[in-house]
Amino acid sequence: MKKLINRIKTDGRVVSDGVLKVDSFLNHQVDPQLTAEMGKAFASYFGNRKITKVLTLESSGIPPAFTAAMELGVPMVFAKKQKPMTMKEDVWVERVFSFTKQIENEIHIGKAFLAASDRVLIIDDFLAHGEAALGLASIVKQAGAEVVGIGIVIEKAFQEGGEKLRNAGFDVLSLARIKSLTNQQVRFIDEE
Ligand code: 5GP
Repeated sequence: MKKLINRIKTDGRVVSDGVLKVDSFLNHQVDPQLTAEMGKAFASYFGNRKITKVLTLESSGIPPAFTAAMELGVPMVFAKKQKPMTMKEDVWVERVFSFTKQIENEIHIGKAFLAASDRVLIIDDFLAHGEAALGLASIVKQAGAEVVGIGIVIEKAFQEGGEKLRNAGFDVLSLARIKSLTNQQVRFIDEE
């Protein structure tokens, strides 16, 4: 997605050889117009797969998952990192290692919001080592439902998540694929 790549070029900050900061439009402040276009891009690629639900992980996955769900005309569900007191009903739980925080989180989804008949599109902001997406996919499997695609806003293709997910048979669409972050510079795969 050209607009996204241009935005990363102008506003992205390389924190280290492995981490990109995009707080000004994706991870803290959110650009609604750009996020709406992300939703359109995901819906245009995955639109013919009879998706019934879009699934993401709080918090930064929510805006692109919401716009994708809006375009597809289906509900969006976000996994919670903490189980609130109000979540008394049966919940699916999975352990996910957080790349940015370097800790293991439990993620929770109320069983009422994921049925065996669901055809699920997983969306996340970043793909690094694939832990978040695999954790969500594992819950979908526990529910007896099907993952019909995985949409990622920014894939760091030099980390192994993309390969892991594709080798596991998932169809992954990433709107921007980063080849490297070395020397404080963002290089994209599509611009080779
Ligand atoms: P994974 O589970 O694929 O290892 O990492 C994906 C998750 O870690 C995303 O949900 C995202 O929140 C976070 N993440 C991974 N790499 C980056 C990065 O370079 N920058 C930011 N801001 N978040 C990242």
